[in-house]
Amino acid sequence: MKILLTGSAGFLGSHIANKLIQEGHTVIGLDDLSTGSLSNLDGLLQHERFTFVEHDVRLPYHANVDAILNFACPASPIHYQADPVRTIETNFLGIINLLHLAKTTGAIILQASTSEVYGDPEESPQREEYWGNVNPIGIRSCYDEGKRAAETLCFDYKRQYGIDARVIRIFNTYGPNMAEGDGRVVSNFIVQALRNEPITIYGEGTQSRSFCFVDDLVEGIYKFLTLEHGVDTPINLGNPNEFTMLELAELVIASTGSSSKLVKRPLPLDDPRQRRPDISKAISILDWQPRIELTEGIERTSSYFSKIIGK
Ligand code: UDP
Repeated sequence: MKILLTGSAGFLGSHIANKLIQEGHTVIGLDDLSTGSLSNLDGLLQHERFTFVEHDVRLPYHANVDAILNFACPASPIHYQADPVRTIETNFLGIINLLHLAKTTGAIILQASTSEVYGDPEESPQREEYWGNVNPIGIRSCYDEGKRAAETLCFDYKRQYGIDARVIRIFNTYGPNMAEGDGRVVSNFIVQALRNEPITIYGEGTQSRSFCFVDDLVEGIYKFLTLEHGVDTPINLGNPNEFTMLELAELVIASTGSSSKLVKRPLPLDDPRQRRPDISKAISILDWQPRIELTEGIERTSSYFSKIIGK
């Protein structure tokens, strides 16, 4: 296939770009380089089937493609909250431009949505049928509501124009190619541990997340992209094993042999208390489930960071 991949220089985008090239596809990778980095595309920039284009998805882009994957948006709270207007524009205008392209070309479109559509969930694990508990005017809303609006647009285009739109809801994912200053918890803890600096626990550290290693996630994305038919539901992709931030910190310290101590910091506003995917749809529809346990994933991510920060 000829594939347009937005957010291609980001953490997830760069892994997906590699997978698509490995599988023999031709890829046009867009990125505005606001949070992504060309160094994530090191092995690809010279590849004959990969073309990089610096482009902001808030503006239209045209190419004759068979599939579109939309991974353009900062995903770390500190980054998406730094310019919230741009974040919601990236989500809203970005998907409108790409859906229009899908309608014109007949391409399949796969939208990277998020567990953040469930907000601070009042049921756990979160099933795709759960409508969520989102603050529409809070500091996370630029991302949450932007992604929710993008989902709405995907399903409206699907119903109204018959396009093949596919939506995945990605739960917390980690691995190599996260930026050192990404700000999300796994990269923060690993970088702090490798430097033997204090590990920053926000709040009491009793809030939970379920962490998926990036290779597992990419397998799930690829299975959905290549599924012969579309489906009428978003699909959760994530690892259902749930950990508190205190448990994660202990695991990172043990894995890196660090002498870091824990230090408490204020809990960010509207920080969800829990998050855990119900992946029964991914299992039944995609025949997918994650295989890499947190201990192994943390080791692989730590060895990446120890190389890039020279520890
Ligand atoms: N967190 C933390 N210390 C950090 C960074 C994050 O305790 O240095 C917490 C954060 O408050 C949240 C969880 O870790 O409860 C996951 O945060 P992250 O930013 O990785 O992703 P989120 O799931 O909140 O989007």
